[in-house]
Amino acid sequence: MTQFNLGPWVPLADGVYTTVAEPDAVTIGLVVGPTGAVMIDTGSSPAQGAQLRTTAEAVAGVPVTAVVVTHGHYDHLFGLAAFADLPRYGHENLADWLTRPETATAAERLGVDVADLIAADRTLALAKVIDAGGRRIEALHFGGAHTDADIVVYVPDADVVFAGDLVESAGDPSIEPASDLRGWPLALDGLIGMSRAETVVVPGHGPVMDRIQVLEQRSRLSALYSQVEFAIGQGVALADAYASVEWPFGEETMAAALPLLYDSFAASGITPKRQLPIVSS
Ligand SMILES: [Zn+2]
Repeated sequence: MTQFNLGPWVPLADGVYTTVAEPDAVTIGLVVGPTGAVMIDTGSSPAQGAQLRTTAEAVAGVPVTAVVVTHGHYDHLFGLAAFADLPRYGHENLADWLTRPETATAAERLGVDVADLIAADRTLALAKVIDAGGRRIEALHFGGAHTDADIVVYVPDADVVFAGDLVESAGDPSIEPASDLRGWPLALDGLIGMSRAETVVVPGHGPVMDRIQVLEQRSRLSALYSQVEFAIGQGVALADAYASVEWPFGEETMAAALPLLYDSFAASGITPKRQLPIVSS
């Protein structure tokens, strides 16, 4: 039986809180303005979304008046159904996630009915200003990276950015079929570019980070892409790739990433060319 436990709301900056929602230790954000609050991400089920809303309003002392979803993975999206009466912000590709096979698989595993899930009703392609009860926050999309629907949420007056799963401090960044490994470093360039030394970056999973840690993840993701490109150029087959060089991530991450990268290079006609042995007569 899946446990949907919820941690306490912990203050991070003036009127900015986070809590951690199980089963996947996703960090949920809350930005509190004078007359309302905006929640960032919604937990792994409609019931957990409802619980987040109740506990958030208790700590905020004002109603939750809008919600932002950083991307379509279940631990960020499934709770959105508890906010059907409110403005719900997300990237314009987010709605498509409701009908994807991975969403159905996650819903079944969590005992959630896909028919109960809902999408954002206020979508953005690039950027949008959101009113957090009289306090201005900004949602931004830097292109496909962890998924095709990633957005980050910036709180200018607190210098806090909620980065979704663009970065993680609990482990390696989560690389999966919806990831764009060529675009990901570019998206992190956007995140780094909007940050200062003091900016607090809240990852989707794990403790807060600073921009140096974001830069470090950007370097490893970029190295991953170019090392695969180099290995393919050297004629290294997928089966031999892991053992062929030192990779920037551990074995589990590489086991997911290497087939995806080989597939994406193959789709653009780039495959390992075996050098035929020279036969002497
Ligand atoms: Zn994710």
